[in-house]
Amino acid sequence: MRVLTVVGNRPQFVKAAAVSSRLRSVGVEVLVHTGQHYDDALSRVFFDELALPRPEYRFDLGGGSNTEQTARMLSELAPLLASEAPDVVLVYGDTNSTLAGALAAAQAGVPVAHVEAGMRSYDRRMPEELNRVLTDHASSLLLCSSPAAVATLQAEQVVGEVVLVGDVMVDVFELLAPRADASMLEQLGVTAGDYLLATAHRAGNVDDPERLRALVEVLTGMPLPVVLPLHPRTRARLTEAGLLDALDGVIVAPPLGYLEFAGLLLGARAVLTDSGGVQKEAYLAGKPCITLRDTTEWRETVEAGWNVLVDLDLPAALDALQRPAPSERPPLYGDGRAGERVVEALVRMQG
Ligand code: UDP
Repeated sequence: MRVLTVVGNRPQFVKAAAVSSRLRSVGVEVLVHTGQHYDDALSRVFFDELALPRPEYRFDLGGGSNTEQTARMLSELAPLLASEAPDVVLVYGDTNSTLAGALAAAQAGVPVAHVEAGMRSYDRRMPEELNRVLTDHASSLLLCSSPAAVATLQAEQVVGEVVLVGDVMVDVFELLAPRADASMLEQLGVTAGDYLLATAHRAGNVDDPERLRALVEVLTGMPLPVVLPLHPRTRARLTEAGLLDALDGVIVAPPLGYLEFAGLLLGARAVLTDSGGVQKEAYLAGKPCITLRDTTEWRETVEAGWNVLVDLDLPAALDALQRPAPSERPPLYGDGRAGERVVEALVRMQG
């Protein structure tokens, strides 16, 4: 079996870490990094910490609009698929790299396998939502994190085979949480249980200066210290809008490696985020999550009472922070063996 895997940004490096080595024990993997995230803080550190194999191909296709970026990726991937002749193309999540990998493969007649298939926020203004829907409908093998994702795909009548595997981020979190690095707490001057961990980088929150101002108001209006490992996109938008200095009292850190971030997560009282992966990891860590969006594709966490959608509404965020954590935390996204099932499904697909 010859699998060409396309990754390009931080959450995809995390997800691929649950699959790549295992895949290489049963077949050949050609790992392609599109360079969607080229910053070392968002890329290289993850290859090192997560023991992800070095990519066989590394492009530099980040930047520009979503359309331009996807188009550049398609132009690079089409000849690569012709020369590498994989049996299947494997893609993760919902980024431009996901869609470009899926579309280039489908157009070349190569079957597509999509990990994290069937997630929906039902907000078509999000570029990620478009990427998810289009990728799912171009895929031959749809590997789902939850039973709800399976039901969604069945309702949409996708043509590919739908398989429930669980969530690969659970595998990685379970494996690495015991090695989480708590040294950042001291470095940033915070005490376990006594601060909030925040991340924000969705286009819908940071690209519009009015929304960005509202985000700053939420972060500066919290009753506890807020630690903000700042995504380069958000830093750039804050700088352009002259708002970087308005983050009064917020403890701004650079983007962190997985183990440092997990250390801060495990020490936090609660999490404020617009990230999909961080909503999930907050749940896994048993931390209440306040999601800075009005929709989520990780609805199970909301239904379980661990996640509250507040958009950029400060009073709603303050209210959510007062809510006691639920007493139960069922395993919503599998048992930490999703990577194994992804590989099994790929092998079955070849047979
Ligand atoms: N993450 C990290 N360092 C940080 C912020 C996030 O390692 O400073 C990890 C986080 O633990 C999760 C992933 O990055 O595994 C989430 O990525 P991101 O929020 O960029 O993407 P999304 O999930 O929103 O697509």
